[in-house]
Amino acid sequence: SSSVTDNAARQAALLGAFGRHFGSPTANSRRVRIIRAPGRVNLIGEHTDYNDGFVFPMAIEPQALIACRSRDDGLVRLASTAFEGPLVEFSVQRRIESGEPGWANYSRGVAQQLVSAGIPLCGMDAVIDSSVPVGGGLSSSAAIEVATGLALLTLAGLDMDPQRLALVCQQAEHFFAGVPCGIMDQTIVAAGRAGHAMLLDCRDLSKQYIPVDGRELQVVIINSMVRHALTGGEYAERREQCNAGVRHFNQGNPGVTTLRDVSLETLRAAEDVLPAVVYRRCRHVVTEIARTTRAAALLLQNDYDELGRLMLQSHESLRGDFEVSTPELDLLVAEAMTVRGVYGARMTGAGFGGCVIAVVQPRAVEPLRHHILKVYPEKTGVTPDIYVTTATAGASVLE
Ligand code: ADP
Ligand code: MG
Repeated sequence: SSSVTDNAARQAALLGAFGRHFGSPTANSRRVRIIRAPGRVNLIGEHTDYNDGFVFPMAIEPQALIACRSRDDGLVRLASTAFEGPLVEFSVQRRIESGEPGWANYSRGVAQQLVSAGIPLCGMDAVIDSSVPVGGGLSSSAAIEVATGLALLTLAGLDMDPQRLALVCQQAEHFFAGVPCGIMDQTIVAAGRAGHAMLLDCRDLSKQYIPVDGRELQVVIINSMVRHALTGGEYAERREQCNAGVRHFNQGNPGVTTLRDVSLETLRAAEDVLPAVVYRRCRHVVTEIARTTRAAALLLQNDYDELGRLMLQSHESLRGDFEVSTPELDLLVAEAMTVRGVYGARMTGAGFGGCVIAVVQPRAVEPLRHHILKVYPEKTGVTPDIYVTTATAGASVLE
């Protein structure tokens, strides 16, 4: 398929870039290894992770690649095909600080977290190349983190449980990039399974892998290409509104420590006492958690019609109750649903921009692409990027 030739071409280009930065791969007796880590998309379960709920992501074909070769002096020298500038350098034998250029903080952070965990790393020369769009909501950041971690571990001859690696990468994102992200992205990127989506319980990190049969169901991701300027507080504000709900329910029942512990009946009974906005935020989370586990059961039964309906309900809840959608995302969902063979569509990711995910019959892929590429530019003046993907495996060592 074309993605196979694309991958071969990108790998060849990556090795070319490695040679330009660090000298010919064959002139040095050490082997150049190639590591991959995919991007991800969430089928359903939005803003549920930090409420101890469920998420339902899968790893996607766009991916980060790292070509790397070990060094004995502890020095890490890093380049990315996405960013110009001199090589980034730091040493695993000294304290690693975040700094400029900012793109490298994800890699610096992962190295520092591994070192702090007492893992004996060697240095490396490495080049990153990624087909995951930067800042497009498909988690280019987790792909870079997990790929860097796996590269450092592989060169040191070490193995790490994928969930542990995911936790290390999440810590790196918290402390080095200053992003208080949940655990979904790094977990699916590190521990995804080809041909499967992952129902992840964010409370105890237990996982259930559900087959996604590409002969019956295709996943289409449409990037709205529009990111709304935020004051920066929106994510924190949503979290605080969820916490306000938890505080209320915790007063009546100390067993309630997150919205995961609140049933829809309990929530409804509190409609008149909770502030209206808090009530709506909580209603999104409580109903979304229920939709997410139900969606996994429906996918297992190949009930795509009902799965699609749940995705539409999820979008409506994110738009109306959680208020994190945008006119562009709403437009993409509405237009996708006019195409025959589209089961469902919703915004995916934290919101305020980013992507829409549609689940569709295979024969609907091209009509959907055609329709969106016609109407979306007409109405917004912007041409969207469209990705058609199967569910891929989590990060792995290619060579
Ligand atoms: P996303 O939604 O794509 O995860 P983020 O803002 O969380 O967006 O992460 C984007 C950051 O990830 C970039 O600013 C950069 O630091 C890092 N990154 C992504 N792709 C690359 C790349 N190809 N090379 C180097 N760093 C990258
Ligand atoms: Mg990210």
